[in-house]
Amino acid sequence: MNKPTPKKTAPKKPVKAPAAAAPPKPLPKLILSEGMTIKDAANAAEIKPKALLDRLSSAGLEMGTNDLLDESSIAAFVKAAKREVEYIKLEQAVRNLAESDEKALVTRPPVVTIMGHVDHGKTTLLDNIRSSRLVDKEFGGITQHIGAYRVHHKNRNITFIDTPGHEAFTQLRARGAGVTDIVVLVVAADDGIMPQTKEAINHALAADVPIIVAINKIDKPEANVDRVKQQLSKEDLLVEDWGGKTISVEISATEGKNIEDLLEMILLLGDIQDLKTNPKVPAQGVVLESKMDPQKGPIGSVLIRHGVLEQGQAFLSGTSFGRARALFDEKGQSMKAAAAGVPVEVMGFQTVPQAGDLFQVVSDLPTAKKIAEHRVLQDRKPEPVVQERATLDELFKKIEDGQPKELNLIVKADVHGSVEVLADLLPSLATEKVLIKVVHAATGPISEADVLLASASRAVIIGYNARVLPKIADLAARENVEIRLYTIIYQLTDDIKKAVIGLLDPVIRETVIGHAEIRKVFQIPKIGLVAGCYVTDGRIARNADIRVLRNREVIHQGRISSLKHVKENVNEVKKDYECGIGLDRFKDIQPRDVIEAFIREKVRPT
Ligand code: GDP
Repeated sequence: MNKPTPKKTAPKKPVKAPAAAAPPKPLPKLILSEGMTIKDAANAAEIKPKALLDRLSSAGLEMGTNDLLDESSIAAFVKAAKREVEYIKLEQAVRNLAESDEKALVTRPPVVTIMGHVDHGKTTLLDNIRSSRLVDKEFGGITQHIGAYRVHHKNRNITFIDTPGHEAFTQLRARGAGVTDIVVLVVAADDGIMPQTKEAINHALAADVPIIVAINKIDKPEANVDRVKQQLSKEDLLVEDWGGKTISVEISATEGKNIEDLLEMILLLGDIQDLKTNPKVPAQGVVLESKMDPQKGPIGSVLIRHGVLEQGQAFLSGTSFGRARALFDEKGQSMKAAAAGVPVEVMGFQTVPQAGDLFQVVSDLPTAKKIAEHRVLQDRKPEPVVQERATLDELFKKIEDGQPKELNLIVKADVHGSVEVLADLLPSLATEKVLIKVVHAATGPISEADVLLASASRAVIIGYNARVLPKIADLAARENVEIRLYTIIYQLTDDIKKAVIGLLDPVIRETVIGHAEIRKVFQIPKIGLVAGCYVTDGRIARNADIRVLRNREVIHQGRISSLKHVKENVNEVKKDYECGIGLDRFKDIQPRDVIEAFIREKVRPT
């Protein structure tokens, strides 16, 4: 059998299928990143820059080919390119590049933050680790505080964040930069678990960062390691030698006892996490700290995560930019380059960068300047992308069919008794579909740390007889964190219950699918009243809901009991056809009434 040929072609020439022969394949999604110009984007989409500019102009955006693409021009771009487009931040583009090249990935050192209650020995432990194990210790130099330092253990490196405690940890995390791979939780064996220990545990858990417990001060006669382990088990941290999964090491920070074991465990946990970096991409890091130095000018301590930062390279960090005029390590020694896991003090910022912002090397200084200035215009929306925040009202809107949802709460109350009651009561308001998790519960006023934790873990702060200072309220507003204050328990529980029900209540959207006009009313034996109708628009479906309208007023709402077309039972009758409609439990119908059919759908609210 001969196949039909769409078009005759000269026999010797290669046959090229005419465009009409195959249906056009949908174009793959185009990823455009910050820093691309209109021209770059047009080239990437294989459309003429002029066509794109015209489209932008008709959307009210007067732009030139060398202007940077931004989120506001994307919609016009999508129309011009006729394909799906995703716009990502520059740093995300570099991360995608880093992660996509699997062959280039190499192991990187783990990054550790030490947390725990005040006076439990965090600083002593950091000092002890630093004193004898610093990388490059042979080069002398006085240890500088640059936000982090590297130590050497068995030919491998570990990076320690130099600011113990959860404030810095959470602050970095709230800005989207989760730098810490492992939390070492210091618990003094003579004191046991204290409020800040719990707070630290909650911060680490909320960030999904694994914890190694360092049970400290075991040299003290009153040390009681078992009691600490017992208390840990109550915090869901059952230690390994009690059959759990939490690694614990018994140490003395002052005597330097078992510190090697602790480092060993850190490396082991790092290996389990399979921490990788791609040294081949333009360097990316996180600003740990920043300041204006009287001699050096604006400086930022940056922990490199991908690529290798070299002296002289241009970079961008939030809306700050510059050229790396000089690099210094934690000993104040000048460096030529810094790879992943290396904290480095960078000189050459034009303005003081913000701690927690990402640091990104770009091709040259003019590019860095252009993107930074563009970010200022764009109302400063650099990486990290601010996460969607939780508010009780928004939770109403979050309907994802079938998936269990979680409402994270931070509870602050005036007295311990209330904290305990609320910490027990609130999770019990959960339903099968909505989990209520109290991320943190403590006494005292609502603090900066609470707001940062809420921001980082998308939690709502509940204050019960708790105070909020204006500056904390301001911070919460900036971080988009909802604080709800109550003085009466049932009002609190009522709101939470409502939020939970709101989460489950799907929003129903009605769509009118058609109208039929009643021309005649028949009384049919055994069936009852049937409306002889003519479908004037859309369709009437057997399973649709209906309203009966008389002089445009609704006189009945209900269901159809029968739908016939020329004596046949049918599921649907379309426009311009006649049909017989029987109504369920409704008899007051007259000629010229209109039957409106509609369907209801569960939808996500918009
Ligand atoms: P931080 O507030 O957690 O940073 O605690 P510090 O490191 O400042 O330590 C508080 C106090 O505990 C200091 O007086 C330390 O000398 C002491 N300390 C820390 N670690 C140990 C230890 O292992 N054994 C003993 N006996 N004292 C310790």
